This record gives sequence, structure tokens and C-alpha cells, in this order.
Amino acid sequence: MDQRLLMQIPKVDVLLAEEPLVRLEADFTHDQIKDAARSHLQSLREGVLAGELAEIDPPEKVAEAVARTLENRGAYSLRPVINATGVVLHTNLGRSPLGEAVAEHVAEVAAGYCNLEYNLERGERGSRYNHVERIICEITGAEAAMVVNNNAGAVFLMLNTLCKGQGVAVSRGEQVEIGGSFRVPEIMVQSGARLIEVGTTNKTHEADYARAIGEQGASALLKVHPSNFAMIGFTESVSVAQLSDLARDSGALVLYDMGSAPLFPNEVAGLDNQETIRGVLRDGADVVCFSGDKLAGSAQGGILVGRRDLIERIRANQLTRMLRIDKLSLAALEMTMQLCRDPRLARREVPVVRMLSMTADELRGRAEALDEAIAAIGGVEHEVVAVKDEPGGGSLPDVLLDGYAVSVTVAGLAPAELERRLREAPTPIVARVSKEQVLLSARTIMDGDVERVCAALAEIAQAGGEEPPAGGAER
Ligand SMILES: *Cc1c(COP(=O)(O)O)cnc(C)c1O
Repeated sequence: MDQRLLMQIPKVDVLLAEEPLVRLEADFTHDQIKDAARSHLQSLREGVLAGELAEIDPPEKVAEAVARTLENRGAYSLRPVINATGVVLHTNLGRSPLGEAVAEHVAEVAAGYCNLEYNLERGERGSRYNHVERIICEITGAEAAMVVNNNAGAVFLMLNTLCKGQGVAVSRGEQVEIGGSFRVPEIMVQSGARLIEVGTTNKTHEADYARAIGEQGASALLKVHPSNFAMIGFTESVSVAQLSDLARDSGALVLYDMGSAPLFPNEVAGLDNQETIRGVLRDGADVVCFSGDKLAGSAQGGILVGRRDLIERIRANQLTRMLRIDKLSLAALEMTMQLCRDPRLARREVPVVRMLSMTADELRGRAEALDEAIAAIGGVEHEVVAVKDEPGGGSLPDVLLDGYAVSVTVAGLAPAELERRLREAPTPIVARVSKEQVLLSARTIMDGDVERVCAALAEIAQAGGEEPPAGGAER
């Protein structure tokens, strides 16, 4: 460790008094500047300790680096990024972007008062759920519908309301963990339902469910979409139609957590035989739930559809109050659902639907346009390449989508370094590095993003492959 270098790292107060940081007081709070300064100093310290820094700049230079970081980053921690990964429903990047018209509608609702729980016709208290029930029923063919905060909440509420203290049969092949902490067996325990495991990991037969009803007293059969994994080979599962045939005599309920469900057939280009919500309801599912911000292309939400008597019981559950959806998500959901009435409109106005329905030809055209725009800035090597994109969000685990991307290279920058610098752009660009190539996917980069991508690349190309100034290195 170089004690001398550590001593040269300026103190926070010294840094804050430097002109570049004083100047920022107009646009940032004192705490924001102080936090940025602290974290920069910390990274310098780590750099010295790791033996990566040979010298420390004078305080004014360090202050300039902090100011640059802060100005680039903007005032907010949560802010827009450009998704160049080709993963449409990228859970880490906020899943579903809203259409422009939808975002405008949400902003309008947000900026003032709204009739969230007010019946304008009668001039009295109304229900927040009324705004979307009719349109959801129209789209899914359901008798009744209700929405909560997210689909995890919807699953919990469904089990807690309809199955508390009772046995629920779930295939061993469907006892999945979805993104972090959502595990079907644990949700089941929390909800007060008793898990009855049926079948084996790869195969579950009708007879397994029949035994769960007949011998173990299952009052519900729960199907869970495996979402983020796919089983291939020697596998078998039981369809909703078969489950509802089985359940009919005993009166057991058929419940289905679909996770990501398309709102209309052919929502994803090239996938014509996908299960739709309407289809599984017609096949006899009693209650189905799914996410608002996966293939539904809207805001975070958990949507429950199915038999009226069951949905009404769920609505009456006290816990619903804790899981209720907020007005902005509701505004986005209502409008997105309206757009999805007409698939042509949805393809134009709902970004998730648009991105998933793009054909390979269309994507090649988009990649070529991006490639041309990049050619015009100079200093960046670029090439259109065929790639595999992904629906993401655990929607269709075994599906890869044919797509195109622009592979970019800047002389003197390793792919990982270019990827990092793109991430540090004023509007951060999240790119994919594959086989030593930095790829910018034509599918998920939105039309309005192209200019910003080019501006960022131009800046990176100009700074070039030289080492960042000593002591100014952000790690
Ligand atoms: C994504 C998913 C969930 C969780 O939904 P959220 O809206 O993220 O809460 C639950 N079940 C399945 C099958 C899923 O795919």
C-alpha cells in the first residue's frame, strides 16, 4: 500500500470548496454533491489500495471529475436508460416501457386530482377497480376481473382467499422460483394454504392430480407457468382443460398463475400457438392471474380474472388493501388494455407489443439505419450482425427471437471498457457483450434513442482509447 498516495487524497471539505463543485450548488443539493464527492474519494482510496493508481490529481482536478460524474448522472438515482440488450422485458431495466400516448395520459392523471375512487355519475364514493374491470373482461373473456400491486401479490391473495387452511396440489415440475425471492412453495406457506406436491420434476400425470383430490383432499389444483426455465426431453404436464375435467366432480378449483401472458394471439411474431388468457379461461380455469408489465406491456400490476363469485371473495379480502394498485399504474393499465383491443393499434402504440412483433426484415432495416447514423459520426467501427434477442421477463424461456444489432468497436478500447463507457453516458446505454463484441440491438433501442446513442458514441470515440486522467478514474 502506498501511504504517501493515500495522504494525497483530498478531504471532502477541501473538495467541496473547489470551484467546480461550488458551481454545482445551483443544480444539486449540498448532500447530493457531498455524496458524489465521498463516493469518488472512496473509489480513489480503493484504487490506491489495489495498486491501480500511480498518482493523485490536485484537488481542483479531482473536483472537476466529481462534477463531471454528477452532471452526467443528473440529479436522480432512478432515471431513463437506453436498453440496447435485445431483451424486451428486461426485469432490471423496468420491464415494460409505456407507449408515448400512455405515458402522456399517466402524466395527466398524475399532475392533478382524478376520480380514482369517485363515481362521477352519482357524485359519491366509487371503486378504483371499476376503471379497468370492464376492459379486462372484454379482452380476456372473463366474467370478472380485479387488479393488485403486482402478480406476486395476486398469487398470494388468490391462495389466501380461496385456499387458506386447505390443500392445494402443485406439480413438482412447477414449484419454481421466479426472480429472487418469489418461490411457489414459500408463497403457499405464507398464504396459509397447504402444499400437496404431485408428480415428479419432469412428469406429472392426470392420475397424480386425481390422487391429490381423492386421497389427500386437495381443494384446488394450481398450475404455475415455469416462466424462467424450460424443460425439454422426457416431460409431461397436465393441461388446464384436463385439470378442469378432473376437478369438476369434486368441486376443486383450477387456478393458474400464468406470469407472463399475451393479451391476444400472435402477440409475439412467429409464435402462433401460445396459450392466451382467453384460451385458458375457456378451457375451464376458475381464476387466472398474470403480470401487468410483462407481455401485457403496461405498468406494474397483478391482474386476476375468472369466476365472478371467486373474484368477489378476493376483492373482499382485507389484505387487498395492502396490495392495492396505485392510480398511475391503473391509468397505464386501462389505456394499454384499450389499445390492445385492436392488435394493429397495439403494435403501433404499445412498445412491448411492437418490439415483439417486429419481423427479421424490419429489424435488419432498423439495424441498417442505426449503422448509417453511427457511420456518420466517424471514429467508430460498426457492422450489422444477426443476433438472437429474447422476450425476457420469464415470458418464454425457450424462445429466442431472430434479430439484428450493430456491433461497435472504438480503437484502443476493450469491449468491456466500451460497454462501461456506454453505461456512463448522460443517458446510460446498457449494451450486450457477446463473443468480444459490443452489440446494440435494433429491437430494443427505441426510435427516439438513436440520436442519444450516436452522441454517446461520438463522445467516447473522441475521448478515445487513452487512459482516463490519473486520479480521475471512476471505477
Ligand atoms: C413474473 C411472475 C410472477 C411475479 O410477478 P410480478 O408481477 O413480478 O410480481 C409470478 N408468477 C409467475 C409465473 C411469473 O412469471
